[in-house]
Amino acid sequence: MKGRKLLMIPGPIEFEPDVLQAMGMATTSHVAPNFIEVFGNSLELMRAVWKSPKGQPFIVAGTGTLAMDMAAANLIEQGDNVLVISSGYFGKRFKDILDRYGANTTILEAPIGEVVSLDTIEKELKARPYKALTITHVDTSTGLLVDPKPIAHLAKKYNTLSILDGVCSVAGEALNQDEWELDVVLTASQKAIGVPPGLALLIASEKAMQVWKNRKTPVPNYYADWNNWLPIMRAYEERRPSYFGTPAVNLIVALETSLKIICKEGMDNRVKRHQSLSKAFRAGIASLNLKILAKKNNIAANTLTAVYYPEGIDGAALSAKMVDSNVIIAGGLLPEIKADYFRVGHMGSVSSNDLIAVLGALERALLELGHLIVSGKSLQTFQNELLAAN
Ligand code: PMP
Repeated sequence: MKGRKLLMIPGPIEFEPDVLQAMGMATTSHVAPNFIEVFGNSLELMRAVWKSPKGQPFIVAGTGTLAMDMAAANLIEQGDNVLVISSGYFGKRFKDILDRYGANTTILEAPIGEVVSLDTIEKELKARPYKALTITHVDTSTGLLVDPKPIAHLAKKYNTLSILDGVCSVAGEALNQDEWELDVVLTASQKAIGVPPGLALLIASEKAMQVWKNRKTPVPNYYADWNNWLPIMRAYEERRPSYFGTPAVNLIVALETSLKIICKEGMDNRVKRHQSLSKAFRAGIASLNLKILAKKNNIAANTLTAVYYPEGIDGAALSAKMVDSNVIIAGGLLPEIKADYFRVGHMGSVSSNDLIAVLGALERALLELGHLIVSGKSLQTFQNELLAAN
C-alpha cells in the first residue's frame, strides 16, 4: 500500500508521474548529444522560472545546502561582513556556512512567528558596510514568508549583494530575480521544482559573477568553485560536450521534464494556485481553532503551513494517526518549539484534493484523540474559500 500514501511534508514532495518516468530512463553518457540538449534546455528553462534572463544558472549534483555553500564559497572572502536575515532554522544554517568561510556575520532575528522589519535591516546596513546579505524566502522550519523585493532594493541602495535562499520557494512563491535585482537565488530539486532530491540549483546575477571574478583569494572549496562549473554550464548551453564532475544524468532529465511542466502552467498561474490553496488551507486550519506559527497571514508561506498542536494533544500520536490514514506530515524543526507543532507541505503539483485529504485525516485524528471539533468544519471552510476565490 506504500504507493497510496500521500507525502505532504515540505520536501521531498509528491512528484509528477512524468517526472518519475523521465528519471527511470536508461542512463546515457553525460556527453551524449541527447543529454547535452536536455542539460542546455534545463539551464534555459531555469531562467524562465527564476525570471532571470540575464542570470548565470548552475545545476550541480548536491542538495540545497550545497547551493548555499556554493554562494558563500564563491562570493565571500575572509573577514567580509555579511548580514543574515533569519526567520528560522535555515537562516542559522546560512550563518554557520558563512562563518565557516571566515565571514564576519551579523544575524538579525525576530520573535518566533514574526519577520525582521525593513527598518531594522536598513538600520544595520547603515551602521556598517556589508558585502552581502542573505534572506530566507520561506523558512521551512517556521513557514514564514519574507518579501525579498524591498530587501533586495535596500541591498542595492547600500551596495550589498543579496543572496536569496529559495529552497522552499522557487517555483512556488512569487519571484522575479532580475526585476528585483537579487544577486543569487538558490534552490534544491526536491521542493516546488518537483524533482527527487539531489540537485543544487542557483542563478547568479551579472554583478555577483563580477564580484566573484574580482576575488582576491582563491575559492576555498574545490567542488563548489565556479571556476570549475562555469565552463561546464557554458558548454552545455552552447550544446558542446564537457566534463568536470559527472552530472546527475537521470535527475537532470527529470529536471527538464519538470521545468517544462512548470513553464506550461506558467509561473504566474502557478504562484496563484499556491496562494489560493494555501489561503484556503489556512482558513480550514483556523476553523478548527488551530493556530499557525506565522502571526500574520501576509507572512505565512504559500508552500507550507506550520501549525501548533492544540493543547493536550500528543504530537507523535497525531502524526501516527495521520499515517494510519495514509497521510504523511512533518513534525517541528525549530529547536525551541520542536515538539509543539507540525508542518504540512503544499507545493509543486499539490492540488485541492491533496489538501482535502490532509484536513479530513487531521480532523479524524483530532477526534480520535479526544479533541473537540466539529467534524467536517475545516473541509467546509476549505471548500467555501476555494469557491469564493474562483
Ligand atoms: N534552506 C531551506 C529554506 C530549506 O527548506 C532547506 C531544506 N529543507 C535547505 C535550505 C537545505 O536544503 P537541503 O536539505 O536540500 O540541503
